[in-house]
Amino acid sequence: MKNQIQLGLLILTIACFVLLGYNVYLRETTPPEQAYTEFIAAMQQGEITSVHLRGSQVTGEYVSGKKFSSYAPDITSLLPQLLENNIHISAEPEAEKGLVTFFKVLLPMSMLYGAWLVFNRKSMGNSSSFNLGQHSRFTPVKSDRVTFRDVAGISEAKAELLEIVEFLKQPEKYSQLGAKLPKGVLLQGAPGTGKTLLAKAIAGEAAVSFFSLGGSDFVEMFVGVGASRVRDLFAEAKRSAPCIIFIDEIDAIGGKRSGNSASGGNDEREQTLNALLVEMDGFSSDKAVIVVAATNRPDILDPALLRPGRFDRQITIALPDVKGRAKILEVHAQQIAIDKSIDLGAIARSIPGFSGAEIANLVNEAALMAGRNNKKKVELIDFEEAKDKIIMGLERKSIVVSEKNRRVTAYHEAGHAIVGMMLDETDPLHKITIIPRGRAMGITQHLPIVDQHAYSREYLVNRIKTLLGGRVAETLVFNRLTTGASNDITMATEIATRLVCEWGMSASIGPISYRQENESFLNQSSNSKPYSEVTAEKIDSEITSVISECYDESEKILRKHNKFLHKFAEALLINETMDAEEVDIVYRSYIRERKVELQLSGKKS
Ligand code: ADP
Ligand code: ZN
Repeated sequence: MKNQIQLGLLILTIACFVLLGYNVYLRETTPPEQAYTEFIAAMQQGEITSVHLRGSQVTGEYVSGKKFSSYAPDITSLLPQLLENNIHISAEPEAEKGLVTFFKVLLPMSMLYGAWLVFNRKSMGNSSSFNLGQHSRFTPVKSDRVTFRDVAGISEAKAELLEIVEFLKQPEKYSQLGAKLPKGVLLQGAPGTGKTLLAKAIAGEAAVSFFSLGGSDFVEMFVGVGASRVRDLFAEAKRSAPCIIFIDEIDAIGGKRSGNSASGGNDEREQTLNALLVEMDGFSSDKAVIVVAATNRPDILDPALLRPGRFDRQITIALPDVKGRAKILEVHAQQIAIDKSIDLGAIARSIPGFSGAEIANLVNEAALMAGRNNKKKVELIDFEEAKDKIIMGLERKSIVVSEKNRRVTAYHEAGHAIVGMMLDETDPLHKITIIPRGRAMGITQHLPIVDQHAYSREYLVNRIKTLLGGRVAETLVFNRLTTGASNDITMATEIATRLVCEWGMSASIGPISYRQENESFLNQSSNSKPYSEVTAEKIDSEITSVISECYDESEKILRKHNKFLHKFAEALLINETMDAEEVDIVYRSYIRERKVELQLSGKKS
C-alpha cells in the first residue's frame, strides 16, 4: 500500500516537472511579441519576408532576420494582405500539440489517482479489500502458548472443552468413524471471566493455530467489507486446519436480525452475519476448523447462530466462587515474588464478585504496591491496599473538603452503616471512610461473606433501605438536601425496578416479568412497551411505593438510634477511616450508655 502511494506521488511530481519544462521551452522558443498594428505596418512597408500561421498565432521573420510573434484577430482579412505583399506563408492547424494534450489529460488523472490512494488508505485501515487473498491478514497467533494449566477455577468449562481438544488433535480418528466434528462453541460469560484465555488454551492444548478477531472488527464503514473479511478469514483458516477461529464479542455482528432493511446501518451487520452463517454451513465438518465465539450478551444473539451445525455447544462461564478465586489467585501469584505465609484463601474470601481478570489485576497491583514501598516480597498488606484501591478507587487526600462538607459526609456514611447494622439479612460492614475516593466523597463498604446466587426479597429491600440511609441521615441532621446521594438513589431505584418488573416480588403486580429487554444499540426500532399504559402506571406506582416505604423505614431506624448516629459521625470525623472492629467499639459504647439511660429512666418512673 505504501509503495503504491509513493508511486502515485512520483508520477505526480514527474508530471509537474515535465509540464513546467515544456512551458519554459515554449517561452524560450516563442519570439518576442509584437502589436498587431506594428506587424501590419511592417508588412506594408515590405520589412517582413515570411510568416507562419497556427490558428490566430502569427510568427514571422523580418528582412533583417529578426523574429517576432503576434496575434491576428481576423485571419481571413489578413491572408489577402499577406499575399499582396508577397510574403512567404506557411500554416498548421490550431489543434494543440500532442504533448500538451497528453499532459492536460494526464495531470488531472494522476491527481485523481493520488487522491484515491490517500482516501482509500484512510478508509480501509491497514487492510484493503482490493488485494484479496494475496497475503494473509489473519496471521495465526502462536507465541505465548497458553494451556489449560493457565486457566483456573472453571473446571466444568474446561472439562467440556477437553473433548474439543481431542477432536483437534486427531480429527481423522473421529471422521473415520463417520462422526461429525463440532463446528462452533459459544462461550458466554461476564467480561474478564477468561473466555479469551480459554479459547487460547484450547488451541494451546491441541497445538493448533489460533485465529482471533473481534466482532466489531468486522463491522466496517463500507458495506461488504465485513462479509468479505469473514470469507477471507475462513479461507485462511481452512488452509491451516486444524485450527481455532476465535470471534470475540460476537454480539457485535450476531445480534438479532431486524428483517427490515429500511434502517441502513443494520444492513452491513446483517450481511456480515449472513456470510458467517454461510461459511459455517459451508465447510465440511471433517475439516477440523472450530469456531469459538465469546459474548456477554447471549440474550441478544440471533437464534440462527445457535442452530445445530453452528454454535450448538454453549458453555457458560460464571464468575468464580471462593475456591475458584483462590485457584486463580494461585495461578497469578506464581508470577510474583510473594510472601509464602500469605493465606490466599482469606484473600479469595474478601473479594466476592471479582472476575478472573480482576483477580489478575489485583495480584499485579499488589506487586506494584510492594515495589512502591521497596519491598522484596509482596505481603498481605499490599494485597489489602491493592484491593481497596480497586474496589473504592484511589484515595484523593489532596482534595480540599470544607469542614461543613466533611460533617455532611460523615453523617451520610454513618447513616448507611447504621441502617445496615440494624437490619437482618444484610451484608456485614467492611470499611467506612470519609476520605474522598475516586468520584465519591466517602464510602461505606459492605462485603458479603458467602457468594450469593439468589437474593431474598428481604435482602433486596434492606439493601434499598441501607442505600437510602445516607440521604435520610443528611436530612435528619442538616435538614438540607445535597447531591451526594445521587448514586445511592440511582442504585436504590434500579433494585426497586427489578424487584417489581423482573423478580416478580411486588404484591400488587405479582410474579409477572415486565423486563424491558435491553434492546442495545442494534435495534432501537421498537419503542413500544410490551405492556399496556395501565400496567405501566401500576408498575410506576409500585416502584414509588417500594422506595417510599424503604425511606420511611430507614428514617424510623435513624430516629431511634439518633444518639448513635451522632457518636458514629463524630468518630468518623476524627478517624476518617474505620473498619468493622472500630465501628463495633463505638456501637458497644453506645449500647452501654443506652442501657444506663434506660435503667435511669426506669428508676424514675
Ligand atoms: P474475557 O475474554 O472473558 O473478557 P479474558 O480471557 O480476556 O476474559 O481474561 C483476561 C485475563 O484475566 C486473562 O488474560 C487472565 O490473566 C485473567 N483470567 C481470567 N480468568 C482467568 C482464569 N479462570 N484463570 C486464570 N486467569 C484468568
Ligand atoms: Zn451514599
